[in-house]
Amino acid sequence: MDLSPHTLLALLAGALTLEFAVGQILAQLNQGYPPPKLPEHLGHLYTPEKYARALEYKRERHRLSVFGGWAGYLAVMGLLLSGGFAGIDAWIRGFEPNTPWHSLLFLGMLYLGSDLLSLPIQLYATFVVEARYGFNTTTPGTFLLDKLKTYALALLVGGPLVYGLLTIILHWGTGFWWRAWILAMAVSVGMGYLYTSLLLPIFNKLSPLPEGPLLHAIQQLTLRLHFPHGRVVCMDASKRSTKANAFFSGFGRQKTIVLTDNLLHDHTDAETVAVLAHEIGHYTLRHTWVQMGISAITTGAILFILSLVLFSLGMSKAMGASEWVVHVNLLAAGMLFSPINLVIGLFTNSLSRRQEYRADAFAAEQVPAQDLAAALGRLASNSLDDLFPHPAYVRAYYSHPTIPERLEALGALIAKD
Ligand SMILES: [Zn+2]
Repeated sequence: MDLSPHTLLALLAGALTLEFAVGQILAQLNQGYPPPKLPEHLGHLYTPEKYARALEYKRERHRLSVFGGWAGYLAVMGLLLSGGFAGIDAWIRGFEPNTPWHSLLFLGMLYLGSDLLSLPIQLYATFVVEARYGFNTTTPGTFLLDKLKTYALALLVGGPLVYGLLTIILHWGTGFWWRAWILAMAVSVGMGYLYTSLLLPIFNKLSPLPEGPLLHAIQQLTLRLHFPHGRVVCMDASKRSTKANAFFSGFGRQKTIVLTDNLLHDHTDAETVAVLAHEIGHYTLRHTWVQMGISAITTGAILFILSLVLFSLGMSKAMGASEWVVHVNLLAAGMLFSPINLVIGLFTNSLSRRQEYRADAFAAEQVPAQDLAAALGRLASNSLDDLFPHPAYVRAYYSHPTIPERLEALGALIAKD
């Protein structure tokens, strides 16, 4: 396949524009979708005032994401069409001509540049929008520290990984893809093992759940459901936001159950146990393995497609470079993949939403379904959750069904008993 640099440039611009346009259309559809008045059967979730507030919250986040979308699109398109990426590459070559160090500097600078460009939006989202609705508890100090830690992690963990990937590419040529695949799988399993023991503690304090009725109830549940696990910890999520969450991470007996302090604070013990029963459902029904398998397949497929476009001289020229440059082509491949990611998302999100229904049904067999329904209702209400996203928006982006959909499915289960 030998396309001219001009055709390839048009393809790159087309891919970016397609993804951007689809995103904007979906966002507009979503924005105009919710009914102005809350349907009566959901009156137990939101008061009319709270519902109006939830709609206002949705509008503000929509405006911000449209603005961010435009800013990102214009910045990338501007650099692409002006040959700016090749310009940055040529500048770095002036003082560091040796790949892969040159490549690392190039990718690192783009990462830092794009993060700094979006910094005003991140600040506005956290300290204005989230604060206005009472969700934000992040102090400027925590925000700054998080940023520095993220950059340090990108440097210390991301840097060596990208260096490894580049070395494999330069050494093995087109055959790099399956070797890089093995590396990616090893990293993802390793992250699963190290997430709660190494990564999460960098950002949060994890303390053992104290002895008491809740811990006792959790232990009884996990014993009854044959859910092997290690620590049960409480995470201080409240230092950033008032929103609640629960999850587990790791494998086998080393799994850590993480409950956020917001969850423990806002929910009854029965509700917390119901939320945990749902999470255990994902494990018992093997959703975790299915998700890992699918992610392995898509990673492999993407790396294989990458091997077909990464060595194209025309692609580097389309980006404005005068010779083949590996990192410029990596960037170009990322642009080409952006609409493909949207398609992959359609499939994986649809699967994930079905798994959510199944995990809910599993939980409803283990604990009173009313407890799970109460927990879901409270989660939605406390986070001013969007009860009525547009169905097309849900298809594209939602990994979970909406709360009214989940409550309806649970209601059907309760009615059957
Ligand atoms: Zn779930």
